[in-house]
Amino acid sequence: MELLTVKEILDRTVKHFQNYEIASARLDAEILLSEVLDMERINLYVNFDKPLTKGEVDKYRQFVIARSKGTPVAYIIAKQEFMSLNFKVTEATLIPRPETEHLVEVILDKIKAVGLDRVKVVDVGTGSGAIIVSLTKLAEKEIEAIAVDISADALDVAKENADNYELLDKIDFRLGSLLEPVSEMVDIIVSNPPYIPTSDIKDLQREVKNEPITALDGGQDGLDFYREIINQSLTKLNTGGLIAFEIGINQADDVASLLENNNFDNIKIIKDYAGIERVVLATKE
Ligand code: GLN
Repeated sequence: MELLTVKEILDRTVKHFQNYEIASARLDAEILLSEVLDMERINLYVNFDKPLTKGEVDKYRQFVIARSKGTPVAYIIAKQEFMSLNFKVTEATLIPRPETEHLVEVILDKIKAVGLDRVKVVDVGTGSGAIIVSLTKLAEKEIEAIAVDISADALDVAKENADNYELLDKIDFRLGSLLEPVSEMVDIIVSNPPYIPTSDIKDLQREVKNEPITALDGGQDGLDFYREIINQSLTKLNTGGLIAFEIGINQADDVASLLENNNFDNIKIIKDYAGIERVVLATKE
């Protein structure tokens, strides 16, 4: 049997992916092959003429088939980078997005600025744990962290991610709905809740449709979880405490109004690098 080289197999896969209308054909082919060969993507180029073994080709073929069917690359390789950290992801968790890094950065700044030695932070709907693990790892201050999720499977993944960075004893993982498992007062509530209006779910990209619907569907107007979290926060957020949300397209004003109607102060809307309003913050009176 003819054994294909790295270059040959990449070129074939790119064509194949293009036929399947995968936008990031080259990148995806390279990421999947680097995973099979257990090498950095950049090293594919110095190994261009290296023939693959049969075992490598077989494994790669499985990956390519999965990707052609619309499975996101992150699920195939079971990992995603976020805040320059490595997160395990499974089909029980949303794949962390670069946009969400804004939310983490804003909170890291706030934690730095706050006049407390220890800050109690809860991440509502932690999913893979991307937000709370990066906050706990990167904050320049001691954090008492709580992570809540309604999915036991997601919580298991989040725990694994915490364990990977030796943060298991720093983050208290709790199974349940929103702030229900939190009975103590906290200083910061952060959430990237499901925010897609139910009627828009059907129009999502094929890849996104592989992600858990419970991580995406925000109810009729997409705002159900903001309403509920804000409502529950009233008895759990310390005076002067911070609430911070990631929001979807065109939701900034609605979420800001919800906060205003519940007497939150200092409401701020922050745009992402694409100029899209992405984060809403407020403090409790
Ligand atoms: N907190 C996780 C993230 O931002 C999961 C969010 C979600 O599932 N809606 O990636």
